[in-house]
Amino acid sequence: MDPAGIYIHIPFCVRKCPYCDFYSVSDLATIPVFVDALIAEMTLRRQPEKVFDSIYIGGGTPTVLDQEQVCRILEAAGREFAIDPGAEITIEANPGTVSNARLRAFRSAGINRINIGVQSFDDANLEFLGRIHTAEDAKNALHMAEDAGFDNIGLDLIYALPDQTRRNWQKDLETAVDCAPAHISAYMLTCEPGTPLDSDRIAGRFKPAHDSRQAEFFMHARDFLRRHGYEHYEISNFARSARYRSRHNSKYWNNIPYVGFGPAAHSYAPPVRSMNVRSVAEYVEKIREGRLPVGETEKLNWQQLMIEAIYLGLRQAVGIDCAAFANRFGVDFKQMFSDLIGRFTAKGYLMEHDGRIVLTGRGMLMQESIAEAFIETL
Ligand code: SF4
Repeated sequence: MDPAGIYIHIPFCVRKCPYCDFYSVSDLATIPVFVDALIAEMTLRRQPEKVFDSIYIGGGTPTVLDQEQVCRILEAAGREFAIDPGAEITIEANPGTVSNARLRAFRSAGINRINIGVQSFDDANLEFLGRIHTAEDAKNALHMAEDAGFDNIGLDLIYALPDQTRRNWQKDLETAVDCAPAHISAYMLTCEPGTPLDSDRIAGRFKPAHDSRQAEFFMHARDFLRRHGYEHYEISNFARSARYRSRHNSKYWNNIPYVGFGPAAHSYAPPVRSMNVRSVAEYVEKIREGRLPVGETEKLNWQQLMIEAIYLGLRQAVGIDCAAFANRFGVDFKQMFSDLIGRFTAKGYLMEHDGRIVLTGRGMLMQESIAEAFIETL
């Protein structure tokens, strides 16, 4: 059985970015109480018999925690769970909340991968995105991470901002490559329902980038990063080599169990998915009462599992492994979807490679609608 993953959600941000729909709050006063509750949740969910080979401290902004708090969380994880000695241990960092001392302490505590939320190297873009840092801060954070001894550094970029030019996106990509990170995530800006960014869109305060521009930027990023030695292993993710793919995120895409801690964190023990309550206060209260802070639980049926396998398989460069699909669902994928496979292959969106059904670059652009077409025929 594949080792499982641990996700730790730190639900605090200095300021909320208008495009973000992750759960986080800006009242940092409750951090100490939250950290105690988080450690207590680990004790409540302890699973000494299962091996975990990834820990991902995400959020929110984990780097609002001080070194002592992060060390206590990692110690608790090591006490309550069997962590593989070669585990990938990642922390997400906001360039506005890092310091040399803090990053050194994180590295000494055993964190061996850092993902920095750069988003853009252009100050005007950062202002539009409501980020708390400048482009200079982002570059400094990357240097500090390297100085602290991290050799597995990732950075996030956001593209297809309103009015962003191809030249502007090109400059972000060039600067990112010049920094030589091991991993780059490139996310298309989306207006998630309920966010301030979406309200601004609805009110006509800006016009989102046109579909054709989004497509052009996606293809450009793919071509540029591949030419500079990054493999495009998932729609939004590029790694310098297979060793630098996100081991933790790969669990989400490949039906591997994970346990999530903190408010709004998801857990998955196939076929059951659950989500913790989406409120720091409620979370702390439940833990104080000695109860698991679970808000929702869903048992996925055979069809839902198949839908996920198709959707997530098509997001990845490895595609859908037909033999593994047959093993898992007792279904011959190629036979079941022969018409669609033929149609999308003829259009240049899909190809068969090594017993796998894989999207081409152009196909990745259409991933949502292609996956939907497969799912509709189920
Ligand atoms: S810092 Fe990250 S988690 Fe926090 S609001 Fe901004 S995008 Fe969301």
